[in-house]
Amino acid sequence: MQGSVLVLGAGMVGAACALELQRRGLDVALVDAREPGSETSHGNAGVLTRSSIVPFNNPALWRALPGLLANESASLRYDPAYLLRNIGWAMRFLLAARRGTFERTVAALDPLTRLSLREHERLLAESGQLARLRRDGWMFLYRQPPRTAGMRLQLEVYQRCGVEVEELDPAAIHALEPALRPIFARGLLIRAARSVDDPGAVVRAYAELFARRGGRLLRRRAVGLERQARGWSVRFEQGSVEQAQQVVVALGPWSAAFLRTAGLRIPMAFERGYHMHYAGAADGAPALTRPIHDAQAGYVLSPMRRGLRLSTGVELNDLDAPPRHAQLEAAQRAAAQALELGRRLDENPWKGARPTLPDSRPMIGELPRRGLWAAFGHQHIGFSTGPGSASLLGALMAGEPAPIDPAPFAPQRFAGLGPPS
Ligand SMILES: Cc1cc2nc3c(=O)[nH]c(=O)nc-3n(C[C@H](O)[C@H](O)[C@H](O)COP(=O)(O)OP(=O)(O)OC[C@H]3O[C@@H](n4cnc5c(N)ncnc54)[C@H](O)[C@@H]3O)c2cc1C
Repeated sequence: MQGSVLVLGAGMVGAACALELQRRGLDVALVDAREPGSETSHGNAGVLTRSSIVPFNNPALWRALPGLLANESASLRYDPAYLLRNIGWAMRFLLAARRGTFERTVAALDPLTRLSLREHERLLAESGQLARLRRDGWMFLYRQPPRTAGMRLQLEVYQRCGVEVEELDPAAIHALEPALRPIFARGLLIRAARSVDDPGAVVRAYAELFARRGGRLLRRRAVGLERQARGWSVRFEQGSVEQAQQVVVALGPWSAAFLRTAGLRIPMAFERGYHMHYAGAADGAPALTRPIHDAQAGYVLSPMRRGLRLSTGVELNDLDAPPRHAQLEAAQRAAAQALELGRRLDENPWKGARPTLPDSRPMIGELPRRGLWAAFGHQHIGFSTGPGSASLLGALMAGEPAPIDPAPFAPQRFAGLGPPS
């Protein structure tokens, strides 16, 4: 394995990659324009679960499509102009909902999530963050009996993949979460799911562990990269340059724009999302103890250190388009029916973007340029699957047998991204 590596991006994916490559004896620098874990890996719902192996583009999406196209649903909204500009991506995303591609995605994500949960446990222990980890599961809640096709598919996948599920009636929901009002007809408890109370702090702790072990943390914004005779040079804002034999691009939603500077086109779209924190119930009243997904209302509520974090479904839009708060407002109205939210704690809603490739699998592997590696595209599950992605990447970079099948994640599955040369 060649010696020096620059890992660009210190979100969950980049921080985990830096730790893994360091563990393998490489000389690693981890670079971010901001403090580690300040972007998507900060703003998520903090859920670590194998139940996320069913991607948004699954065969049940076809039936839901007419309702979603109305553009008023809490779980999916879109900017029509953005969708038209990215119609190729949208068609491929829809086509990947067909049974064959969907099954390949489930078969790929299942071992990745299993591996990631094990690796997270190890990294949480090594970075002194185990106290942040809750092991009491997470819940899908349904106000009306759910549509059978989607539900049947979800349960069938869980059964096949050994994701244990407990079906809940209203009394069981109340027993688990007395803070919830009795508006839910049915629930599913994924008991083995875990969650953390501050995702950004977990990433910071992973980056600090990397630094304590001798890794270099650089606070710089990368603006381009060029191939050199023996490796790569990365240019940063304000003109500085770093050279390394290999570069890992783990820039989350910014990866595609950055790789255009190396002449590579990555089929990535942005599933934007928002969050807001709330103070919760008054002292003495029951509080939510685990994350819940109000499936038909399309939001997630997670108890966090800062307060109750309400996060929204998907808004397909440009990464930098101005925020649109209608979806969050709708989620807030729906969540207020479910429990006492209390007052807002943030001045403005947080906005982020899930980086998504058409088949809902991350891209992990060597790009068509030798020594340039991809670790991005983790859509809704990058906080969970960063550590497993790092294990896979580390084995591929070392030329060792991979811990899981790398083929479904290879850049070369997309036309235009040929073998490295
Ligand atoms: C609302 C919401 C809820 C979610 N809930 C969950 C969940 O419960 N569980 C789960 O597993 N996943 C969840 N996700 C998805 C998850 O958050 C992402 O998949 C994951 O955080 C992506 O991590 P990343 O490291 O690839 O990207 P990021 O965390 O975005 O990291 C990329 C880093 O690159 C840096 N950067 C960007 N450009 C440059 C540059 N030019 N130079 C230097 N640095 C740069 C950024 O500062 C950033 O730190 C959710 C996402 C959203 C939006």
